[in-house]
Amino acid sequence: MHYFDHSATTPLHPRVKQLMDEVGRIHFGNPSSIHSSGQKAKALIEKARGQMAKSIGCSSNEIIFTGGGTEANNLVLWNLIHEDKKHVVTSSIEHPAILATLDHLQDLGVAYSEVGVDKYGIVDPSEIEGSITEDTGLITIMMANNEVGTIQPIKEISEIAKKHNIPFHSDAVQALGKFPIDAKDLGVDMMSFSAHKFYGPKGVGVLYFKKGTSLKPHIIGGSQERSLRAGTQNTVGIVGMGLAAEIAAENLERSQLYLNDLKGSFMDQLRSVCNDVVFNQHSTECIPGLVSVTFPGVRSDLLMIHLDRRNVAVSSGSACSSGDIKPSKVLTSMGIADDLNICTLRISFGSGNTQYDTSLLVDAISESLKLIRPAA
Ligand code: PLP
Repeated sequence: MHYFDHSATTPLHPRVKQLMDEVGRIHFGNPSSIHSSGQKAKALIEKARGQMAKSIGCSSNEIIFTGGGTEANNLVLWNLIHEDKKHVVTSSIEHPAILATLDHLQDLGVAYSEVGVDKYGIVDPSEIEGSITEDTGLITIMMANNEVGTIQPIKEISEIAKKHNIPFHSDAVQALGKFPIDAKDLGVDMMSFSAHKFYGPKGVGVLYFKKGTSLKPHIIGGSQERSLRAGTQNTVGIVGMGLAAEIAAENLERSQLYLNDLKGSFMDQLRSVCNDVVFNQHSTECIPGLVSVTFPGVRSDLLMIHLDRRNVAVSSGSACSSGDIKPSKVLTSMGIADDLNICTLRISFGSGNTQYDTSLLVDAISESLKLIRPAA
């Protein structure tokens, strides 16, 4: 399979896989157990906590391990049912792990306002400030968008949140390993991460939780993770995530250059074979290696089927269920009309891709387009 869908998920880094195999085989004790097998597992978890903390510039005691990015976001949002101030300011391009959860929480008294975005998917911090009410108890704005890769002005939003004394959370699931993240410098109170987006395992993530931020648990039971996330920790997953975060931080600059090279070369080649393509992302405020591209008149589900027949994996911006394709809310928020919206693909390069792959992908797209619209 020629894989160009790294924003959906990444393969395990070989060193991460090796470590996870070893830990799973040898250190299977319950990290809450008193005996040395359990204590060894606990020590491995604490090492991973340190690796995760170092990669985002915070202290180990500000890291809560969760079952992924969705769960980290839920932990933050469900906390609102315990707060007096139950209004949330968010954006119209958040992941469903934010927007669908907020929708659900409306039945429990939580209200929210969505701010819009510009044609690149960037929020205007002054609109966020304008949406704050007396009842606002949280601002949540993603760090980088999963469909178009847009990077948000997090520091500016953080200053607004501080000015109004409102906790600020950012869904940073698409950000780690793509650009430097320094919790202290950004000034955010909470951030969500997910290991499978940075060559770690699936089903494990982190909530960064700044010291002094108030939070009540959503998953209740034992006293793991300082009683903020009950349940026996996933030692193997956490250890894999710790190493993946460390590797991501070590390789950051090289990886940025490499992914942007692939992206630039792909875009140039695609333009030369298909002169009506439209690229939707911002030229600089975008995560490396991600391309959102519209092929006017060619439905993305059809193009994806043709590409899949050529063993090429990409993603569509639009939700597709039982043959019915729905425009993407993110692209709609950016002002992209439905007829173009449903003709949009997301291509996300990763460390395993090469320049050769970019030509292969352009050939596969160009051949598929010839079949779909013979005049192309
Ligand atoms: N937030 C964003 C921006 C994402 O891209 C994703 C996954 O696609 C999630 C949250 C959910 O993370 P997870 O798959 O770990 O639950």
